[in-house]
Amino acid sequence: MDEHMTPTTRTVATDDDSAHTAGPGQPIQARQAAGPAAPRALSPSRANDFKSCPLKFRYRTIDRIPEPPSAAAARGTLVHAVLQYLFSRAAAERTEATAAAAVPRLWTDLVRGDPDLATLPEAIDLDTWFGAARELLGRYFSMEDPARLEPDACELRLEVTLPDGVPTRGFVDRLDVSPGGLIRIVDYKTGKAPPAAYADDALFQLKFYALMLYRLRGVIAARLRLMYLGDGRLLEYTPDAAGLESFERSVVALWRAIERASASGDFPPRRSKLCDWCSFQPLCPAFGGTPPPYPVSPSDAARPGDVVRPADPVRPGD
Ligand code: SF4
Repeated sequence: MDEHMTPTTRTVATDDDSAHTAGPGQPIQARQAAGPAAPRALSPSRANDFKSCPLKFRYRTIDRIPEPPSAAAARGTLVHAVLQYLFSRAAAERTEATAAAAVPRLWTDLVRGDPDLATLPEAIDLDTWFGAARELLGRYFSMEDPARLEPDACELRLEVTLPDGVPTRGFVDRLDVSPGGLIRIVDYKTGKAPPAAYADDALFQLKFYALMLYRLRGVIAARLRLMYLGDGRLLEYTPDAAGLESFERSVVALWRAIERASASGDFPPRRSKLCDWCSFQPLCPAFGGTPPPYPVSPSDAARPGDVVRPADPVRPGD
């Protein structure tokens, strides 16, 4: 399914679905400062947060407690920026050399635009950093030839309210549409493919996007594709209407649980292996910490059954 792209919406996204609006070669916008607020829409990243640990969801989405920049996430953002840039060039220019040459310039743009990222260069060796990014990009070129692709969109922002009133939003790394109209949703990951037992979890994000497209356009994507640049493997899935509708029921149930938690302020911690990477440990009762007062008044919180219409400004991680 090699296709032709007319880029529409462009942003730079990390593997955790972060999004910063930008055009090729333009500085990435700084993170938006925002005060505490009840969640207004569900993205795959925030859904995963709530599933893995409701307290982490609260701190990240409602309290909006700043988190230290992550070198791994920043590398993901850089690689996504290069791939985005690549598809803004003419097909003949989409070479590994073009990608490698763009790495330092796009990193400079990212650092200039994001004050959080600006602290990272002091902590990393830039030559090694760029080398790691180029290695991932080299693996990308071993997986497909971008000169033979013309995506319909890159970094496409989707926003739709599901029939049950659940507001959703997200960013698709790449949307391919074949001449016959078949849709393929593609997402780049800078890590390695998960073991088969975790494939379903890994596909959550793309199923979420497929559901959004289904409700927006009434079409079912022919293929969902995760490209793991860490090891060069693909994870693919073919959705169908029954599967998407079943998935939709699980998304609705999740949003209702978020609404209830938002109204009550009850976001229990859930310990897991992910705690090792969680910067909220000092505020987490599971680690002896004390949560700050819940910052949202009940009248501001989403209530069960509410249809929340206005979407918050896009913030990293959405
Ligand atoms: S440390 Fe673990 S349990 Fe506590 S908020 Fe973070 S992820 Fe949740």
